[in-house]
Amino acid sequence: MMVTQVNLYNRYRPQNLNEIVGQESISRILSNAILKNRIANAYLLRGSRGSGKTSIARILCKAANCEQLKGFTACGTCNGCKFALHDAIELDAASNRGIDDIKDLLDIMRFRPQHVDKKFIIIDEAHQLTSASLNALLKAVEEPPKHVHFVFCTTENPSSATDTDKAFVTLSSRCQILQFKKVSPKAMLDKLARICIAEDSTVSRDILMSIVGKSDGSLRDAENILDTVLTLYDSEPPERIIQSLYGDIELITCELFANLCNGTLNECLLLVRKLWDSGANPIEVAEFMVKFVTDSIYLQSELTVYRASGIVETLKEISNNIEQSRLHSIAEVFTILQKSGRDDLLSLELAICDIFIDHRDKALVAPIIDSDIEVW
Ligand SMILES: [Zn+2]
Repeated sequence: MMVTQVNLYNRYRPQNLNEIVGQESISRILSNAILKNRIANAYLLRGSRGSGKTSIARILCKAANCEQLKGFTACGTCNGCKFALHDAIELDAASNRGIDDIKDLLDIMRFRPQHVDKKFIIIDEAHQLTSASLNALLKAVEEPPKHVHFVFCTTENPSSATDTDKAFVTLSSRCQILQFKKVSPKAMLDKLARICIAEDSTVSRDILMSIVGKSDGSLRDAENILDTVLTLYDSEPPERIIQSLYGDIELITCELFANLCNGTLNECLLLVRKLWDSGANPIEVAEFMVKFVTDSIYLQSELTVYRASGIVETLKEISNNIEQSRLHSIAEVFTILQKSGRDDLLSLELAICDIFIDHRDKALVAPIIDSDIEVW
């Protein structure tokens, strides 16, 4: 018999609103809607990737159809719970965005669901629908058949849409908009620790902190990285796992950051070469650098930084001995590089030079010794 391995993200996907991590206000709004039987015709769930939008849409679909609701929690065993998702329509607008897809959907929508009372139509990446598709959906969203509820999920902010997205703005205005937060590092750390206990695995806090730091508020990313870690954990030392998570690039960039704060231009340019030879992209380096500046400011304010302890120690040492003006100029130069989208070696070298010139450390700009850098 073939055994299917379910990944951690799906194995620990929340099944009820009270299991949702980091979105308490949204859970409260939807719980009340279920309890008072006031579920909106259409919701727009907006939030960054991996923040749990699709999970909440599915939970809402089940709870709204549950025949033995306990408070706002679906029982998980009745026909409503079993068949709610079977009768729902899920559409990924990233790959099915055209008018024909929507016409098909509107045709199916008219039929009452086979097993349950409420048919949910869940459209992921809704901002990717074409204007014609969005316009075709408008009337259905305003006056849907009694048995239909729409849930649109998006990473885009409708209020910042450009002219070409007007149809998306109009559709959004017909929905109840629920704004998701990025999951807080603390909430993410707790969830990862709970998964480790459930998996009967002991993973050090240091590694969990690194995973949280790497995930930038996306619980899905964090759980996927933890999956990789658990497969390596018995066979490799923790330092190696950290390295396989980040590669050498984060470590060399951290060394470059230390030298930008307290070193010379020559040392920095040599590290830039080393980064380039390791396959680093200047934009990626800029992203790390901006985060290092933020983390240094956090450490100066004695706030928690979610990274491996080795890097935290280096950043602590830097932040204790750095002038604020230097941090500001590093942040400024690398934010400009990040936004420029340039990914050539020269752009990174010029950024480094800018920091030294900007900081008027001209004394540190000693001539580069020929033997230090190979020219090819
Ligand atoms: Zn049920």
